[in-house]
Amino acid sequence: MICPGCFQGIDTEGYCKKCLKNLFAGKKVAHVLPFNSPYKEDSDLYRDLTKKMSISGVQVKFSMRLKEDKLILTDKGGQYILKPIPTGQFNNLDQAPANEHLTMQLAKQLFNMDVPVNAIIYFNDASPAYLVKRFDVKADGSKFQQEDFAQIAQLSEETHGKNYKYDLSYEEIGTLIKRHISMYAFELEKFFRLILFNYIFSNGDAHVKNFSAMRTDAGDYMLTPAYDLLCTRIHSAQESDMALPLLKDRFTDAFQVQGFYTLPDFKEIGRVIGIKDSRVARIINEFNGKDESIDHLVDRSFLKDEIKVDFKSYYKDKLKRIKQF
Ligand SMILES: [Zn+2]
Repeated sequence: MICPGCFQGIDTEGYCKKCLKNLFAGKKVAHVLPFNSPYKEDSDLYRDLTKKMSISGVQVKFSMRLKEDKLILTDKGGQYILKPIPTGQFNNLDQAPANEHLTMQLAKQLFNMDVPVNAIIYFNDASPAYLVKRFDVKADGSKFQQEDFAQIAQLSEETHGKNYKYDLSYEEIGTLIKRHISMYAFELEKFFRLILFNYIFSNGDAHVKNFSAMRTDAGDYMLTPAYDLLCTRIHSAQESDMALPLLKDRFTDAFQVQGFYTLPDFKEIGRVIGIKDSRVARIINEFNGKDESIDHLVDRSFLKDEIKVDFKSYYKDKLKRIKQF
């Protein structure tokens, strides 16, 4: 059997010891919830909760907390966010929980990126959901102060119109990181790795609000762990390669020729946000030679077989573009 947290092979059903420890402080929480998904459960429970607690965004999300060794839906003191299969006009939406889980596990296990603890969990009717532990909640229940980069850049629907989430470039977010985070050298590298990861794994919706900074207990700011990572191309064939342009108001010569981002574009964004060329090259190189381990995790993921094939071909396309020059 495969652990629905980390894909590790285990003897029994459910989460492995390590995932139980990371997700639930070691409590033996089951990987199946004792109630049905919101689409099958015609109950007041969900109706009330959907009204009260859906966190902003298109997808309905539920807040959960641990009560002894059980996860319960809650409207206060949430420690986890539960994302069931979304509804809407996009393709393969039944694959969304497995897609997000796989993409987040790739970020963590193969690229050592800082991501919140996450897993697949099942409803009683066997439909899957993506479960993620909130990184902004401290052990004592209080919260870290955090702001997304739309707030930091003072972009809002009122001031910048409906499309405000897409009204900045990654270069400009880099500039904001330098301005607002004192330990920015390290955070800029994290940011650079994340935008490269998003490009390679076809996360075309990493808009301004999908990057945030939080205040640490020491009083300074750092980037939050990465969140909402998934291969959006699986759900929308027309999705653009990236939610935001890499550079502010310009394109490289290579882009003008190719019409898509290649190695020179990433070298340029790395340079303009202030990362040393040697570090840029090193981070880009982290994405080389990992095909086998990526494919291994894709194979173990909870995606349908034909979607696994798509997932692999999409990232291979992008790697080719990065290696082209
Ligand atoms: Zn595990």
